[in-house]
Amino acid sequence: MNELSDLLKKVNPGAVAIIGIPFDENSSFMKGPASAPQIIRNVLYSESSNMSTESIVDLGSEPRFVDLGDIKVKNYIENIEQTILSILERDTFVLSLGGDHSITYPILKAYGKKYKNLNIFQLDAHPDLYNEFDGNPYAHGCPFARIMEENLAVRLVQVGIRTMNPHQYEQARRFNVETIHMKDWDSSFKSDFKGPVYISLDMDVLDPAFAPGVSHREAGGFSTREVLNVIQELDAPVVGADIVEFNPKRDPLGITAMAAARFLKEIAGKMLTIKSIK
Ligand code: MN
Ligand code: MN
Repeated sequence: MNELSDLLKKVNPGAVAIIGIPFDENSSFMKGPASAPQIIRNVLYSESSNMSTESIVDLGSEPRFVDLGDIKVKNYIENIEQTILSILERDTFVLSLGGDHSITYPILKAYGKKYKNLNIFQLDAHPDLYNEFDGNPYAHGCPFARIMEENLAVRLVQVGIRTMNPHQYEQARRFNVETIHMKDWDSSFKSDFKGPVYISLDMDVLDPAFAPGVSHREAGGFSTREVLNVIQELDAPVVGADIVEFNPKRDPLGITAMAAARFLKEIAGKMLTIKSIK
């Protein structure tokens, strides 16, 4: 952790801190996302493209864009929560690279200490609201149940959902989750968040045609362009984000890695243009 504390000294208020969380122990079906952070970085820093966002923010020459490397996760909740907290204490915005979706719960435990009026915007094929999965309450199908039980967010809005089942439907009602099912998606969607927003972006929100590199491929999802538009049109301060569930083992052509790196750039660009947080 010494290495991280040295890096943190260079992180100034208003910066966007990239941090990898190579952890997939809570994946129920298939391992792989632990190797995602490094693969996304390879694409991000590859000479095949530049570091600019579509709104012409050059992350390559932006001193507020900082890559802090990876968290070594020995204790799932403690290591992730404490590391994210230490970054947030520098008044920065964290953009983490998963890892499976279970990492969002400890990240939000840290965010919950800093933000009392946080909104979560989840893009996912799955609601991830199971009370437990195969006996594991921290499985990657459960993080938003834990988050809502602990009141770590005032609002959870989910888009892209196409695997709701009766149990998770009950859970969604119990936690007042606002689910926009993929079948009901309307491209004129405008978010109406009041206050800071945390984006939790599960790569399987994309249609498998655009992102085969996920463990749980679900047909009938978004195009890469649609997700970019949704991110770009968010009219709220984005104070944190994660990009999770990219499984490089299922991505032989690197298509999903390219999409993840593009999402990283656009979310970082969004964070860097925050004007005020109410
Ligand atoms: Mn998920
Ligand atoms: Mn998912």
